[in-house]
Amino acid sequence: MKTIQTTCPYCGTGCNLDLHVENNRITGATPVKNHPVNDGELCLKGLYGWEFVHSSARLTKPLIRKKDGVFSKEGVLEESTWEEALDLMAEKINHVKKSYGPDAFMGLSSARCTNEENYIFQKFFRQVLGTNNVDHCARL
Ligand code: SF4
Repeated sequence: MKTIQTTCPYCGTGCNLDLHVENNRITGATPVKNHPVNDGELCLKGLYGWEFVHSSARLTKPLIRKKDGVFSKEGVLEESTWEEALDLMAEKINHVKKSYGPDAFMGLSSARCTNEENYIFQKFFRQVLGTNNVDHCARL
């Protein structure tokens, strides 16, 4: 069994824990003792909330709602490639920006992202989309 120290991703507190891994599967978690954030404690999410990692219900490929092979709001979700999904997103974002201006967008980031991910998120909204309409779920 391997033990891997990591930071709990459930909230912004930043508790540290040891994940116990056997045959490439997480079998449990224990809190890191003497850590400055959680000092040997974890809440229920950090202690037991790891089954999702190996869930067969997790999305592993992008899905696009399609009808007759093309995007349609009335279509059904179909697996696609990342290239196709990103091209569609870029096309829709450009269309909205051109038609309604940058302030047509609003971004709400997540406490479950890292600081770096949140930084990139707000940078994308401000620099690429051109709007300051960006916030974080912790302020809701
Ligand atoms: S263990 Fe609980 S309090 Fe600590 S980071 Fe995870 S979710 Fe937050």
